Amino acid sequence: MLMSRETATGARHAVAAPEGARHPVDAGPTGTPVTGEALRRALLLNASREPLCVVSVHRAVSLVLNGKAVVLESDGRLLRSERMSLPAPNVLCLTRYVHVPYRRTVPPTRRTVLQRDAYRCAYCAAPADTVDHVHPRSRGGLHEWTNVVAACSRCNHRKADRLLSEIGWQLLVTPGAPRGTSAVLAAAVRPHPSWSAYLLHA
Ligand SMILES: [Zn+2]
Repeated sequence: MLMSRETATGARHAVAAPEGARHPVDAGPTGTPVTGEALRRALLLNASREPLCVVSVHRAVSLVLNGKAVVLESDGRLLRSERMSLPAPNVLCLTRYVHVPYRRTVPPTRRTVLQRDAYRCAYCAAPADTVDHVHPRSRGGLHEWTNVVAACSRCNHRKADRLLSEIGWQLLVTPGAPRGTSAVLAAAVRPHPSWSAYLLHA
């Protein structure tokens, strides 16, 4: 079985995968084991090139070996087994479009909220490094996307547990659940640099 494809973007990763080949192990170009964040995760795109999710490299290799995905970006390192080698996938693309009936979202955490709001305070636009509950939790506010915003520590401290109506403040942004590109980015602990082109155009 030869899984070699010329993709629309010109990816040229020929993958020879003999029937029954065992999954390759992580190894560098010289066959030495490679460890680290970059090898553990890959960005999976739908056949439409829309980002779907982040998968483990183990899952990515399974998809490629089963002919369900092709590698679009690799850092050049090879995953080797006794009978085959495979470029370590950074970005891969499904060969068939899958319909996604709903888009999973990610929970609001300090990191994902700051990412959604681009690290800008929702009250004064200064650089933010804290998260504020617009309707304070101590007064019944929920921990949900529509009630959390990035805030600078100065605004967060000044606002304390008061309502915006009580201090005459207004939000500069309307908080909501991130979707699409930002959800994928937020789900990734640290997006690999090779993912950026695919995420920007999503
Ligand atoms: Zn502020």
